[in-house]
Amino acid sequence: MKFDVLIVGAGPAGLHAALVATQSGARVGLVDDNARMGGQIWRQGPRHRAGGRARTVLDGLDAQVHHGNLQVLTGTRIVQALPGRQLLAEAAQGGSLLGYDKLIVASGARERFLPYPGWTLPGVTGAGGLQALIKGGMDVQGQRIVIAGSGPLLFAAAVTARAQGARVVAIVEQARAAAVRRFAMQLSSTPARLVQALRMRYDLRDTPYWLDANVTEACGEGQLTHARIRRGHEAIRVDCDRLACAYGLVPNTSLGAMLGCRIDDGVPGSEAPAIVVDTGQATSVEHVYAAGECTGVGGMELAAAEGSIAAYAALGQRERAQAQFAERERYRRFATRLHAAFALDPRLRELAAPHTTLCRCEDVAFGDVAQHRSWRDAKLHTRCGMGPCQGAICGTAASFCFGWTPGAPRPPLAPTRIGTLLEIDKAA
Ligand SMILES: Cc1cc2nc3c(=O)[nH]c(=O)nc-3n(C[C@H](O)[C@H](O)[C@H](O)COP(=O)(O)OP(=O)(O)OC[C@H]3O[C@@H](n4cnc5c(N)ncnc54)[C@H](O)[C@@H]3O)c2cc1C
Repeated sequence: MKFDVLIVGAGPAGLHAALVATQSGARVGLVDDNARMGGQIWRQGPRHRAGGRARTVLDGLDAQVHHGNLQVLTGTRIVQALPGRQLLAEAAQGGSLLGYDKLIVASGARERFLPYPGWTLPGVTGAGGLQALIKGGMDVQGQRIVIAGSGPLLFAAAVTARAQGARVVAIVEQARAAAVRRFAMQLSSTPARLVQALRMRYDLRDTPYWLDANVTEACGEGQLTHARIRRGHEAIRVDCDRLACAYGLVPNTSLGAMLGCRIDDGVPGSEAPAIVVDTGQATSVEHVYAAGECTGVGGMELAAAEGSIAAYAALGQRERAQAQFAERERYRRFATRLHAAFALDPRLRELAAPHTTLCRCEDVAFGDVAQHRSWRDAKLHTRCGMGPCQGAICGTAASFCFGWTPGAPRPPLAPTRIGTLLEIDKAA
């Protein structure tokens, strides 16, 4: 399969890029490893149908599929970048090679997990992870849930859980009250975000929102029964059936890094490396653009504007791209304020005990990793980061806890069938 414009990631960035690119008459491919388009915020599932802006965008793309301008490859994961502008993809039915003239990487973000005693107990997930499970059909009716960590995603996850009949016992936010208050006051410069925040706060008016607080331990024998929480100088025990805990988002740079794109420190204060792009969302690699949260976490509106700009730029329509710059700038400023308000408390580096698991794929303890000088050294001696997730979880945690820089990922990006790898022999 060969495309004029190939887009990896069908979240708001990739979907907006596809809308622009298909309208030019180009032959467009859109790949996503989820079963349906939507990405994270617009994730569709048995318990969640897309509405509002998401519905409009998805209907627009359905029309382009109908007209033959767009080929959507869902349930398809890009596992390797190959020379000659080709990507290796894997789907249930087998592997394939996807060729492109222009590539737009819109691979989004992942949740940041930090290790603390008990964080691998059944019943503990990320905040967005809980939301994704609920949208996918998991029943939480009547369950007591603590949602913890940092950032606005905690509220989004709480709203989703509550709408499905869960009792959200508390939202536990590590940021200080003054910082969060300042951030809330500045929301008037992004009215869409202000309305969303007010609506969520109203929906959750009966739910305690604890600031300057964090989970210190998830407890239970084989299954979560309660969480221990530090709130200011107080230690609190909260009984719960589920704990959803994550410390913000980090750009998913894996594919960009494998393509050789330059990666830098990302949005100031985010402690989260991101793919570097120029004003037209072009990366440092010719013919490769990047858009959305893989270039820095800033929310749906920013991702959508960047997706449109990347597609216009890839098609050489510079003026149309420029028309979106003001919107992008507005939401980049929002992103900077977001990261300043929810900057991680350095004390979170000390939550794990020496025996706490850091790499759950390879079962490596925090204390064993801590003895080493670098991520590479720790990997070679302990196998941390060498399991199925390839360090997506523990590598991010180690870079926060120890200040290490993980190296570029090695192919394949995810566990891949041998039959798929054999497709490489057919590459041009
Ligand atoms: C778990 C989670 C839940 C979130 N929920 C909310 C919410 O409720 N409200 C909110 O305001 N914000 C939410 N966010 C923030 C949200 O990510 C952004 O606001 C927005 O979705 C970013 O859009 P995007 O297009 O950049 O990336 P995404 O929406 O993340 O889309 C990227 C897509 O690329 C796919 N992908 C990545 N790598 C590959 C590959 N190698 N091969 C194939 N496909 C690939 C991913 O599976 C994903 O579908 C959430 C984030 C996460 C991580």
